Amino acid sequence: MLTRRAAGGPIVYFDNAATSLKPRKVIDAVTRYMVYSTANIHRGNHTLAQEVSIAYEHVREKAARFINCSSHEVIFVRGATEGINIVAAGMNLQNHENVVGTLLEHHSNILPWKSRCGYRAAPLLPSGLPDPDAASSLIDENTRLLAVTSCSNVTGVHVSVRPWAELAHRHSLPLLVDAAQSGAHHKIDVGEMDCDFLVLSGHKMCGPTGAGILYGKEKYLMKLTPVFLGGGTVSLVRPDYTYELRELPWRFEAGTPDIAAVLGFGAAIDYVEEIGFDAIKEHMSEMRSALDDLFSSITGIRLLQPIDTRIPRACTVSFTEASGTFPPDYLSRILSDTFGIMARSGHHCAHPLHDSFGAKGSLRVSLLFYNTLEEVSYLGDALKKVLKMTGTA
Ligand code: PMP
Repeated sequence: MLTRRAAGGPIVYFDNAATSLKPRKVIDAVTRYMVYSTANIHRGNHTLAQEVSIAYEHVREKAARFINCSSHEVIFVRGATEGINIVAAGMNLQNHENVVGTLLEHHSNILPWKSRCGYRAAPLLPSGLPDPDAASSLIDENTRLLAVTSCSNVTGVHVSVRPWAELAHRHSLPLLVDAAQSGAHHKIDVGEMDCDFLVLSGHKMCGPTGAGILYGKEKYLMKLTPVFLGGGTVSLVRPDYTYELRELPWRFEAGTPDIAAVLGFGAAIDYVEEIGFDAIKEHMSEMRSALDDLFSSITGIRLLQPIDTRIPRACTVSFTEASGTFPPDYLSRILSDTFGIMARSGHHCAHPLHDSFGAKGSLRVSLLFYNTLEEVSYLGDALKKVLKMTGTA
């Protein structure tokens, strides 16, 4: 990826909120499995089956340490979307019940609820953070769960989760945290958050696509009905086909999983931890300041969420070209084809949030720790050149 070129120069990858680049260590872990130790897991005791089963369960232990929980509370899923669907489908939600979320949520943290019961969203405060008081007033006797993102994939605001857990628990409800955008940004500690469920996508933190985590507190996981059943989920099937579910976490992992992706996810955790969250935080906050400087000085751009430097934010900024000459899709093509900058246009799977900003779509730049200040300043130059063409800057 780093040797590829676009528009006559190196690629500037600013689409990390969609998926991150994959370091060599992760690629090696995936290929090592395919080249050197292919076997299925938990099905047999020959050397290769044992070797890969042990490696797979090591990743589970590593992931548990990474988010500070017990390994039996870590269920491997394809990503955040699958994790939320497993919770929603397993809760036996009824039509008259509801889930309370926020306006900041990604469709993946709306639709699994909305398709089964009522869905109510707390509005945003002027800071861009969701309003916990408003959420509190949406909760009633039919509310089954509170769901909140820990970081917006559109505006980048980091949501402090602990108060949301306190709110949920005051009403004796579980809290689900959508941490899809958080894994590579700061330490996730489910104990400190005191959340009851949390989902994470490995591919947004340097892992391969196809592996992520559904974390659940044991008491809540045990209340869920597994939606996928089959090989690996039962300890016994009797002659009359009644069955016994296995213990946690395996009752939720039906069929052959994406073994290569899980092994790669383990390498991604190592990679992120080797860099360390202190170094990541320092570099990301430098880049965030540079983005703030850039977007407060540039004319002809409308930011979806105005800059508020008091709010902790990831390096994710969504905006439109103010005059409407260049719709987001067009702008992203120009950035890509003329400058080699990969940024994403669209709704970013957040229609209600865009509607609330009165925007039909936006262009999003999202950076990760391997991006540089030079790339931010290159973006600034590119945007200024493009905006000159509209006559607004
Ligand atoms: N939630 C948020 C906040 C996200 O940004 C995304 C991915 N864009 C998801 C959920 C869904 O993640 P995945 O596609 O990995 O399931």
